[in-house]
Formats: sequence, C-alpha cells, structure tokens
Amino acid sequence: AQRLTSLRRQVSETLSLFRLKEEQLQLVKARMRSGLDAGLRSKSSSTIKMLPSFVYLTPDGTERGKYLALDLGGTNFRALLVRFKKQTSRLYHKIYTIPLEIMQGTGEELFDHLAQCVCDFLDYMGLKNTRLPAGFTFSFPCEQSAIDTGTLVAWTKGFKATDSEGHDVVSMLREAIKRRNDIDLDIVALINDTVGTMMSCAHEDQRCEIGMIAGTGTNLCYMEELKNIEKIEQRMCINTEWGGLGDDGCLDDIITLYDTEVDQNSINQGKQRFEKMTSGMYLGEVVRQVLLDLTRRGLLFKGHVSETLKTPGIFETKYLSQIESDRLALLQVRSILQQLGLHGTCHDSIIVKHVCLVVSRRAAQLCGAGMAAVVDKIRENRGLDHLDIAVGVDGSLYKLHPHFSQVLKETVRVMAPQCDVTFQPSEEGSGKGAALIAAVARRKR
Ligand code: ADP
Repeated sequence: AQRLTSLRRQVSETLSLFRLKEEQLQLVKARMRSGLDAGLRSKSSSTIKMLPSFVYLTPDGTERGKYLALDLGGTNFRALLVRFKKQTSRLYHKIYTIPLEIMQGTGEELFDHLAQCVCDFLDYMGLKNTRLPAGFTFSFPCEQSAIDTGTLVAWTKGFKATDSEGHDVVSMLREAIKRRNDIDLDIVALINDTVGTMMSCAHEDQRCEIGMIAGTGTNLCYMEELKNIEKIEQRMCINTEWGGLGDDGCLDDIITLYDTEVDQNSINQGKQRFEKMTSGMYLGEVVRQVLLDLTRRGLLFKGHVSETLKTPGIFETKYLSQIESDRLALLQVRSILQQLGLHGTCHDSIIVKHVCLVVSRRAAQLCGAGMAAVVDKIRENRGLDHLDIAVGVDGSLYKLHPHFSQVLKETVRVMAPQCDVTFQPSEEGSGKGAALIAAVARRKR
C-alpha cells in the first residue's frame, strides 16, 4: 500500500507541473500584454509580431458577386467559390492534401502545386475561362505592405519550403499561375486565417472585432486603433502572431521538460513556444512525452516502453478529445489505447486520461490568459470601464475538443472581469471571410 501511495504521489507531482495557479496565469496575461505593446512599437524586437493586415473595414452587407478563396492553412489547401446574393452567400469547395515532400520541398514546387489545385478546381466548377477576383488566405506570418502584398517572415506549423521566407507570397502564386499559362486569377487580397474568421463573424455580428484560431496552430487578430500605430483615427486589424510568445524565454517558468522535448523534436526549435503548448499540432506530442517519461519511471504500462510510445506523432490531438469525452467509459479509453498499440490496465487508462486533461486544460487556460490581455487592451484603448465584444473562433481544437472552449471562456471571464466576451464559432471563416475581404478590397480599388 505504501508503494502504491508513492507511485500515486509521483504521478500527481508530474501532473501538477501542468496545473497553473491563478498567479501564473496572471503573469502570462501580463507578458502577453507586454508582447502586444512591444510588437506595436517595434516588430523586430518583439516575439509577438503584430503584423498589419490592411483590413480596415468590417463588411457592410452590400457585398455581391462571385469570388474565389484559396486557403493554405495547416494540413490542407482548399479552393472555394463564394457567391454573395442579397444577404446570403453560397459556397462550393474542394480540399487538396499537401504531401509532406511538397510542404518541405522548394517554394516553387509548393506554389506550382497550389496553382495545379486551383486549375483543377476551376476546371471542376466550369470556370476555367473566367478571371475571378480571389482572396488568398495564407496562414503564416507575413509582413504586409498592402492588402495584396506580403513577405513571408517564417514558416510555422510543419512547413519548411525553401526559397520562400523573405519573398512576396502573392507574387510567388501569381508567377506559378503564369508559368502554367492555362488559367487567370486576379488576386486582390492576402489574408491571414484569423482575419478571415473575424470578418466572416463580423458579417453576422457587428460586435465581432477579434478573430482567433485554435487548430493546427494558434493565433489571434483584433481591431487596433491606428492612433496607436500612426496618427489616424481609424482601426486596422492586426494579426498578432501570438504563438511566438515565450520565444525570448519569458515563459520559461511554466515550460515543462516535456514542452522542451516537443520543441527540440520540432522543425522550428526555439520558435512558437506558446503555440507548442496550446495547439493541435503539438498537444498530442506533449501527452506522449509525459506518457513516455511516466513509463520509463515505471509508473505506467508496467514500465514497458513500447516502440509505439517512442513513435513521434502517434498520439494525435484528436485522441485527447476522444479520451477526455465525458461520454466515454474507462473501458473505451482502454480500447482506444489498445488500438494505438498501448496495452495497459484500467488504472493505466485513468492516468492517461488525467495526463490528457491537464495538458488540454493548460492549453485552454493559456489561450484564455492571452485573450484576457487582448480584450483588456482593447477596452483601455477605447477608454471604457466595460467592454462588450465578440470573438470569431475557428479550428478543430476549439470546435471538437470536449472541454477546450468551456475552459477558455471561463478563464477569460475570471481574468478579464471588465469585459463581456462572446465566442462565436465561425462558419467557413477562411472561405467566406476571405471572399468578404476580397470584395471590400476590390471596392476600394
Ligand atoms: P487548420 O490546419 O486549418 O488549423 P484544423 O482547424 O482542422 O485545420 O486543425 C487541424 C488540427 O486539429 C490538427 O493538428 C489536429 O491534430 C487537430 N484535431 C483534429 N481533430 C481534432 C479533434 N477531434 N480534437 C482536437 N483536435 C483535433
């Protein structure tokens, strides 16, 4: 019995590394706030880039016509046709996978592949001979100098195509299309997915001035007063790229050895430390690192370190959602683990479930602390005691995980008591949002 108590204590001590205290979350909020402010003052010295999007307007409902939306975000490339008619919009889309060798090949190959997908889509829709205005949703940090121009700052989320960083990605797509000689596009806007998400929700709800993604990666945009950037009384949407928080070491007091391991095994070491604790591409890996350590210490799976457990990527974030589901009995958790090749007792299943719970809860709380910093900043910007605001949200982690959205909301409620924040899951954010931005951009030309 004494041995059992000691084992329990050791597991519990490991899990407690992920249980953030209120003071720690307050520190994360404060650091996020400093990062946002520093990024607005000077991009080069801040880990949070605060990139201008050149999106000033929210849609006004007068958007009409047909637009193409091209969306390269994380796992897939999507081509969409969006048709606005009176107050409604219709969407047609096709999904294309990006093979790993293309994600990590040359930039020219990647953009040729995208152009090939666009051509296939236009062919499929019977639109090959029309020149449609297109919005290009490209969800990686880009330094924009206009609505339709932006240089890639750095790849994130598993992409590593060569000869792309430092180049204008709109030109790269235009050139790839020109090389083919069989299609024509009028690319009018370069869009981050957060901005698309915000726009699509703003179409329904005027209070929506924040866009957030919790999917493969994590990111947020919001409407900033231009007087904080230039001396103009207007608002521009800023893509924060908040996933970079901690790249200067400011989160080292909460980063665990498991997070460090995940970072070390990634293709962008030392970068996107906040993202690596909060998003779909990494949460499963954080869990796997904890399980690996507990097993090596003889606290799990009878101390048997299987080949499966040593395989990177085997524990996808969707399994956290399944395992943490309140509807699932312990035997079902055990059977999921067995399907993964992790054979253990029911007691092992309890431990695995606890690991998943603390890792995903920490992720949602960290995003909540970050969100609290953003809404308080907006509230102060506007000199208000109370702010009522809506956030458009997209991403599988937000939409499919059983607790993430609830914990996020609760954390924001506690940490930003002067703000009333409504979360709205976006419908087709990157598609409809991109088309709306393209419509607004074209109106202004
Ligand atoms: P994007 O690549 O545009 O962000 P998604 O929002 O679909 O696309 O996010 C994909 C990420 O979500 C992947 O990293 C995947 O691990 C994770 N994911 C997929 N299904 C689930 C799920 N059921 N629960 C939690 N995360 C999931």
